[in-house]
Formats: sequence, structure tokens, C-alpha cells
Amino acid sequence: MPSYTAPTRDARFIINEVLRLESHGNPPGFEGASPDIVDAVVEESGKFAGEVLAPLNASGDAEGCTRHPDGSVTTPKGFKEAFAQFREAGWGTLTAPAEFGGQAMPHVLAFVVEEFMSSANQAFAMYPGLTNGAVSALLAKASPELQQRYLPKMISGEWLGTMNLTEPQCGTDLGLIRTKAVPQADGTYSITGTKIFISSGDNDLADNIIHLVLAKTPDAPDSTKGISLFVVPKVLVNADGSLGAYNAVSCGAIEHKMGIHANATCVMNYDGATGWLVGEENRGLAAMFIMMNGARLGVGIRGLAQAEAAYQNGAAYARERRQGRALTGAADPAEKADPLIVQPDVRRMLMDAKAFTEGMRALALWAGLQVDLSHKAESEEERQGADDLVGLITPVIKGYGTDKGFAVAVDMQQIWGGHGYIVENGMEQFVRDARIAMIYEGANGVQAMDLVGRKLAANMGRAIQAFFKLVDDECAAMKGDEKLADMAGRIEKANGELKAATMWFMQNAMANPNNAGAGAHSYMHIAGVVALGLMWLRMAKTAAEALANGAEDKAFYEAKLTTARYFAECFTPDAGALRRKIEGGAEAMMALPADAFG
Ligand SMILES: Cc1cc2nc3c(=O)[nH]c(=O)nc-3n(C[C@H](O)[C@H](O)[C@H](O)COP(=O)(O)OP(=O)(O)OC[C@H]3O[C@@H](n4cnc5c(N)ncnc54)[C@H](O)[C@@H]3O)c2cc1C
Repeated sequence: MPSYTAPTRDARFIINEVLRLESHGNPPGFEGASPDIVDAVVEESGKFAGEVLAPLNASGDAEGCTRHPDGSVTTPKGFKEAFAQFREAGWGTLTAPAEFGGQAMPHVLAFVVEEFMSSANQAFAMYPGLTNGAVSALLAKASPELQQRYLPKMISGEWLGTMNLTEPQCGTDLGLIRTKAVPQADGTYSITGTKIFISSGDNDLADNIIHLVLAKTPDAPDSTKGISLFVVPKVLVNADGSLGAYNAVSCGAIEHKMGIHANATCVMNYDGATGWLVGEENRGLAAMFIMMNGARLGVGIRGLAQAEAAYQNGAAYARERRQGRALTGAADPAEKADPLIVQPDVRRMLMDAKAFTEGMRALALWAGLQVDLSHKAESEEERQGADDLVGLITPVIKGYGTDKGFAVAVDMQQIWGGHGYIVENGMEQFVRDARIAMIYEGANGVQAMDLVGRKLAANMGRAIQAFFKLVDDECAAMKGDEKLADMAGRIEKANGELKAATMWFMQNAMANPNNAGAGAHSYMHIAGVVALGLMWLRMAKTAAEALANGAEDKAFYEAKLTTARYFAECFTPDAGALRRKIEGGAEAMMALPADAFG
């Protein structure tokens, strides 16, 4: 059975030593995140994930969720009790505004908790994860009255939230939504339609579930311009805040699926359910995007989380399992065979996993910091700069983070050989659970197009230009340091490939938009390599300084330097190959007629 120990030392290193929250002008909320508070949150959430959630991961996967004849849905054994502990510890309140009962702490801390919980039990983590997204949308767009009615209980964890976009005929293309919202005399709307694949759609963890539902009013344009957002509670809420009658919303079925069995993925039927408009009519997509942007970062973190959990178990197995001998002669002559970890090909997979997970953790937490700075930094210029970076990096964290997260889970399963394919050993669950993150919240191909089609061009390329400069400046500054110069040179070169690919799109995508579509996925991966490269440079610099200052934890910092070197040597060359792929354009890709396939 796999085990999981939250990587708390690494998270503390990134937050306290690399990002150094106190060096960002102390925006509101940061004063409460001193290094000792950060340490306490990181350690306690790690303990909760490791001791409460991880033991329920395999049993939850095996049992799954159950829809009963009366339509009610229950989660697997132990989930209700674990969620009660989550609620009591206040893990859902960390970053929420104080006026609704939150602790208003920096997002980096919530991102750490999200990672640990998702590593330990992704299916569980999705219940509060979707609630966070719903809270963000209500905070940004709902009327004060709706906010007062729903937010305090969603933030405290008494109620949960969901996100209802998908319908059988409508996935990526939300313009195809058919769910109807008919205005009523009392100002509410009557919502009718069927939503599918709704994560956490019904369950027994909370007293109420607050569904955010996309629907069209009768006279709305039949396109994305006609979508409105509604809040539709499972149980209607009385004026005094108490729970009233059940609303006309029900779970029609639970989907049978590849992984995350313990998260109830539901078909949701709305049969004239009472809903309240969030924001303005026909402006629902803008409101939903607020929820989706936060959720996309969260899903990227899930890619990292599955990779981390699989990596821990891949590494443990590679140390224990004895097969064959080291290429250089017996490493352990007293035994009949050496452990797998002496094999360079096994090391390749482990080092890939280590370089990705630690780099991705730093990138996700850096993005969390930018989220806070985009709202709370002192100057408008800083807020704008941070907002640009969040917008640019979100599809990279979601797309690159989950593509690589899945690849790492597969590699770690590979280290277990045939035993990795056997259910009771638990490695195949990581692969199954990691797979969904590449699909939902906008499939990764769609993320790549968001990056290339929207984010590069936005504001005349302001965000990508700022990113290029950030990387170039830091590489230039580190080239003077003997220990870091080679690494900085390689990352600068990868940044050069990203610039060249950007230029190629500028010259070739206007005339033929398929050139952008054909190269977008490769571009997203170059951007991922450069972004992780920037993080590895910063971590290497911090580690080198700590060693120079006689840090006690020498092995930790030395491993950082070695892993940074591995990243620079083994990840950055991909940037050149991917750039050449982009420059091949769309011609051969798009040449065959549709009936030539299959
Ligand atoms: C387990 C699970 C949980 C989910 N949870 C939720 C939830 O809580 N709420 C919710 O509303 N939905 C949820 N979904 C739905 C999910 O977000 C959609 O499945 C996803 O957005 C893709 O839509 P689709 O499945 O209809 O695929 P389609 O839109 O039919 O796309 C199929 C494939 O075509 C490609 N593609 C499509 N359009 C484009 C394009 N414009 N550019 C490039 N490539 C494209 C992509 O590779 C995509 O994977 C969930 C799905 C699953 C399986």
C-alpha cells in the first residue's frame, strides 16, 4: 500500500527562503504570515493530509460513491468524519476575507494545503476545492445580499459549492448550453436542464450544496454572449439563514469513471429549480471565468500533487527492490542483487520526477504570491504586473503541470515494473487519478490555445515581454556566479527559444491561424521549461547562499544544487526541439482530408 508524507521541508524552503513573503512590502494579510505561522500551517496541514486523508485514498477508490434509491448520494467510509475534521481545523477559511469569517492569509498557504490534500487524496480534496472556486465567483460578482446568504457557510465548510457548465452536447464550447433560466415575478429564475460530469454534485459531507449554474434566459443570444450565471442551492435558505425546503435539483446518476472514484461526479437534473442571478444577465461567462481561473491553478497543483505522491513511492521502491547489478559492478556485493536505484535509467525517472515536482511546487507557490500581489500590492504598476503574470502562467501551470504530472505518475508506476500494474500496490491509482487533470477545467490543448491565442497577444504582448525580461535579468545576474553560471546560460538559451517561437507565431499565425493551433502545445511546454528554469535558478541561488553561510541542513541544500543542475542539463534542451517542431507549421498536420483518418 502506498504511503505519503507531506513535503513540508520543501514548502517551507520555498515560502520562507525563496519567496520570502516579508520582502514584498507587507500587503494586507501578509503580516499574519510570519515564518513561524507559515511553518505551523505547513506542518499541521501536512499532518492532516498524511494522517487523516492518505489512509482513506485507496479505500475510497475501491468503494466509490453511492447513489441510493431515493436519489441521495453518500461518500465512502471515513470521508464524512475526515471532512468534519477539515471543517473544524478551519482549512477552508485560510485565504477568505475576514468579513465572511475567513483568515485573509496569503494564497501561497492555501496552495500548500491544496497540494498536500490532493497528494494524499485527490478525490477528497476536490470537495473543498470546487467550493473555493464558487466562493471566488460569488465574491467577485454576487450582490451583497447573496454574498451574505451563502459565503459565511461556504467558507466555514458547513456548505459546499459546485460548478455546473457541462451538458451532453456542450463541453469546451459553452455557447452550446441549453439549460434555461426563466425569470419569475419575484426576481428569481426557474432553472431547467441537465448538467453532466458535475464534480461533488451531490454528497453527504455538508448540510447544503450551493450550485453555480450556467444557463440562458429565454431571449438571450444563442452563443457565449447569452450565458448567465445562477446560484442554485440544493436546499433553499430561509430569510433568517436557516434551511428550508429542498430545491428542484437532484442527482440523476453517478458517472462510472477511470479514477477519483471517491469524488461524486454527477448528472444533475434541474427541474424548474429556483435560482438567483449572479452579476448581470448575459455576463455569466465573465463571472464563471473567475471561478475557472482559480480552479485552473488548483488543477495544475493536482498534477504536481499526484506526481509527488507517486514519486515518494517510486523512490522508496527503487531503494528497496533488488534486481541485477550496477553497470559499474556490484554496488552491494554482500547481497545477491543491487537495488534498482543504482540503474541510470531508474535514476533518470527519479531525477525527472524530483526536478519536476520541486520546480513545479516553486512555480505554483510563486503564482500564489502573484495572485496576492495582483490584488494587494501597494502600487497600481505592481498590481498590474502581477496580474499579467498570473494570466500568462495560469494555462502553463494547468497544461504543462498536468501533462508532466501524469507523465511522472506513469514513470513511477514503471519503476514498480509489473507490480506497478497490480491494483493492490496502489501505483496505478496515481496514474488513473492524475489523468483527469489533463482533461477538465479546459482540456490541455485548449489551455495551450488560451496561452498562444489570447495571453500572448493581450495588451500588445505586455505579459510575455515582462516574463522574457524577468528571466533574462535573473539569468544575467547569476552568470557572474561560478556555481550558477552554466545553469543560468542554459535557462537563458531556453528563454531564447521561447522568444524565437513567439516571433515565429507573430510572423506566421496571422496568415494561417492553424499555425498557432499546431504549435500551441509545444509552446506551452517550452514556457513550462522556462518557468521551472526560473524557479530552479532562484532555488539554486538560495541553496548556494545557505551553504556559504554554513547552513545546518547541508544535504538538503546540496541536493537542491544537484537537482537544479539536472534540470538545466536535462529539461532545457527540449526547448530547442519543441521550437523546431513549432516552426514546422501546420501544413503536413492539416493536409489530409478528414476521411483519411481511421
Ligand atoms: C471526472 C470529471 C469531472 C468533471 N467535473 C466537472 C465539473 O465539476 N463541472 C463541469 O461543468 N464540468 C466538469 N467536467 C467536464 C469537463 O470540464 C469537460 O469534459 C471538458 O471541459 C471537455 O469537454 P468535453 O468532454 O465535452 O470534450 P470536447 O469539448 O468534446 O473536446 C474533446 C477534445 O477535443 C479537443 N478540443 C475541443 N475543443 C477544442 C478547441 N477549441 N481547441 C483545441 N482542442 C479542442 C480537446 O483535446 C478535448 O479534450 C468534468 C469531467 C470529468 C470527466
